[in-house]
Amino acid sequence: MKLGKYSIGVGDRFSHQGVAQLRAIMKANETGLEISPVWNKSNREHIYVHSHPADVRKEADAAVAKLGYKGLYFVDADHINLSTVAPFVETADFFTLDVAAFIGKPSSEADVAAFVASCEKYMGELSIPGMKKPLHISKEMLEAIASKFLTATQQASEIYKYLVENKGVGNFITEVSMDEVETPQTPIDMLFILKMLADKGVPAQTIAPKFTGRFNKGVDYRGDLKQFAREFEEDVLVIDYAVKEFGLPEELKLSIHSGSDKFSIYPIMAEVIHKYDKGLHLKTAGTTWLEEVIGLAVAGGEGLELAKKIYANSFNRSEELCAPYADVIDIDNVQLPSVEEVNTWTSEKFANTLRHIPGHADYNSNFRQLIHVAYKVAAEMGETYTSLLEKYEDIVGNCVEENIYERHLKRLFNL
Ligand SMILES: [Zn+2]
Repeated sequence: MKLGKYSIGVGDRFSHQGVAQLRAIMKANETGLEISPVWNKSNREHIYVHSHPADVRKEADAAVAKLGYKGLYFVDADHINLSTVAPFVETADFFTLDVAAFIGKPSSEADVAAFVASCEKYMGELSIPGMKKPLHISKEMLEAIASKFLTATQQASEIYKYLVENKGVGNFITEVSMDEVETPQTPIDMLFILKMLADKGVPAQTIAPKFTGRFNKGVDYRGDLKQFAREFEEDVLVIDYAVKEFGLPEELKLSIHSGSDKFSIYPIMAEVIHKYDKGLHLKTAGTTWLEEVIGLAVAGGEGLELAKKIYANSFNRSEELCAPYADVIDIDNVQLPSVEEVNTWTSEKFANTLRHIPGHADYNSNFRQLIHVAYKVAAEMGETYTSLLEKYEDIVGNCVEENIYERHLKRLFNL
C-alpha cells in the first residue's frame, strides 16, 4: 500500500464534514493534481468526543461513495502508541507511530557503540546532493544522536511489528512522528533517525519531525521564515539521500503536523517541493471544527446563539481547556473579548473575528486559539451541537470547503 505523492490529513472532530472536505480536495484535483485525503483522528480526540475509530472509517467511506471519488484515500490512526493502537487496527490503514515520549530514554552502551560503528562511512565531511556545504559528522555527535533516538526508533519498530502481525505486511501506511517535543530535530538528526528506522526494518512513508518555530494550533507559523526555509529544504534533501542510501521507501516524505493555517510557510514549502519534485503530507484537524463554529455563527438564529454559548463556556473554562495544549497555543488573555461583549455581536462580527484572514480588522488570533482548544465544550453539548450541524449543513459545509480549498490548498499548491 502506497500513499500518493501529495496527501492532506483532514481531521474532523465530529465526523460531519467528510463530504465538504473531500469536495475541496476534488476541486484541487480537477487542476490535474492527485492529492489523497487522509482522515486522521487521535486517541485523545476520540476520548474527548466519545467517538470510536470505526466512525472515522464510516465517514471516509460514505464521503467517497457520495461524491464518487475514485482516487486513493486513507484513515489515519493518529499519534498512537503500543498501549492505544489496538482499537484502530481493524478500520485504519494509516498509522502514525508516536514515539516522542521515548526520545532521550537511555539505550545500552553496546547498542550506542554498535550504531556509531555502523556509521563509520558517514563520519567526517558528508556531502548530501543539493546541499551547498557538506555536513560535518563527528563520533561525539553520532553518540549523542544514538543516545537520544535509538530507544524511540526501537519503539517505532515494536509498534510496526505489532501492526504487521495484526494487519499483515504491506497492508498499511507507516508514519513516524516526533513532533510533540520541545527541542526540534535538525536535518542531521533526521538523517540518522532514518538510518535507525531503516536498520530496524520500519518502512516509513512519512516522517513528522519537530521543526523550529511555533506551530500553534489553528493560527499562522511563528518563527524565523529564513531558518524554516533552510531547515525544510535540508530535510527534503536528507530524506532523498536516506531513501537511496538506506533503502527506505522511495515515496518517503515529510509530514507537517499542526499543519493547518500556517499560511506564511506554505509558499516556502511549495517552492521546495516543486524545486526537487518531492511529495508532502500536511496534517490538519481543528481548523475544520473552527469552520463549524463559523458556519453556525453565519447561519444566525440558534446557530449564532450556540456559537456564543461555546465561546462563553470556553472563556469561563479556559484554564482547564488550555492546559493539555499549553505548548501549542499562545493566548494573550488581555486580548480576549468579554462574554458580554461577544453576546452583542452580529453573525458577521463573530465570523470575522474567528475566521483566519490575516490582516482583517476583526480577526483575533487569541479568540481563535481559545475556541480551537474548546471542542470538548461542543462534545459535551452532544446532540444539541450535532443537530445544528445537520440543520445548517449547507452553510457549515461551504465554510469547511472554502477554508480547505481557498486558504490551504490554493496556497500550498499554487492553484
Ligand atoms: Zn502531531
